Amino acid sequence: MFKHVEAYPGDPILTLNENFGADPRPHKINLSIGVYLNEAGKMPAMGAVLRAESALAADLGTRPYLPMEGNAAYRAAVRELTFGGAVPADRVAIAQTLGGSGALKVGADFIARYFPKAGVWVSDPTWDNHYSIFAGAGLPVQKYRYYDAATGHVDFPGMLAALEALPAGDVVLLHACCHNPTGADLDELQWRELAALVKRRGLLPFFDMAYQGFGKGVDEDAFAIRHFAAEGIPLFAATSFSKNFSLYGERCGSLSVVCADAREAGNVLGQLKATIRRNYSSPPTHGARIIARVLDDAALRAEWRAELEGMRTRVADMRAGLYEALRERRPDGDFGYLVKQTGMFSFTGLTPAEVERLREESAVYLVGSGRLCLAALTRRTIAPTADAMARVLG
Ligand code: PMP
Repeated sequence: MFKHVEAYPGDPILTLNENFGADPRPHKINLSIGVYLNEAGKMPAMGAVLRAESALAADLGTRPYLPMEGNAAYRAAVRELTFGGAVPADRVAIAQTLGGSGALKVGADFIARYFPKAGVWVSDPTWDNHYSIFAGAGLPVQKYRYYDAATGHVDFPGMLAALEALPAGDVVLLHACCHNPTGADLDELQWRELAALVKRRGLLPFFDMAYQGFGKGVDEDAFAIRHFAAEGIPLFAATSFSKNFSLYGERCGSLSVVCADAREAGNVLGQLKATIRRNYSSPPTHGARIIARVLDDAALRAEWRAELEGMRTRVADMRAGLYEALRERRPDGDFGYLVKQTGMFSFTGLTPAEVERLREESAVYLVGSGRLCLAALTRRTIAPTADAMARVLG
């Protein structure tokens, strides 16, 4: 019956992570998967999260089905965290989703139904799963010019020219902050220019914000979404709390759709609910209760923000540390990209062959594209990583 089912080659990043687990070399260093680790090389349990969770444990109650659109307190708090009052709440249809991936999937299914002729445009390069999720929903996915390897930064004129040429109504996927995999982001002036283009050309922006708080700060990282919304541009925004609450396995995220008025937002929310019902019926209770509690309590929220700020500065320190270490070892090299880029990742420009040598010869794991996760580096692993990189850089 199942003879025609071909073997799954595996997800490139998750497979790499499994291979790392099986690698017997004790000095191995994993800079591949996008998770934040602390100085001890461990995934942190955040203080505010633990405190909210113990308070919940004392008063767990029952675990009913949530409504299709999720926990109401969570949705209100997440709307505030995402938009910060840039748009009236009744114009935003928001649903709790299964992480950022779930938000992208619900959004993609919604687009396939209500904008069946739309093309979806993603940055070149982007997170691989963007292709899988949007193509999996039956939408054609194409790339727009984004990263310039020569400068280690965004080719902004190239990006504008590419988007200028798109048909009105096409969907443009934008990383709100901390671009994955390159770490190259637009600045505020560029976002403003892009918003004007999107508005003039009638494009439909779909923001993906999986790293809020890891770029410049919680509010700064939401600048693009807030600015586009304040400009009256209809948009989608997917958020994820996997990284900034260190709650990967709880699968907490949200999908917001900014609409023209409350009536439209009501209809859109209704259809998001229908999409969710068809997919998994309703989201889980636990993670959303934790996050709602943290965000709704002034003291816990302040503690969370301070802890997240500490995580953000730790990653920035790792960028500076690796930069200095590489400059010492290879004064001939240009490693400025490390300190220019923001967020958890940098694009090293290493070729797939060089990435393979790093893994084979030094047990340092990067993604094949040359993406390095700075958020997994520690003071202890900077020197061996820099040694290994200096060796493969011909
Ligand atoms: N978008 C981007 C750009 C990501 O990097 C990730 C996580 N790696 C996601 C979405 C998905 O987030 P989640 O793990 O919460 O599903």
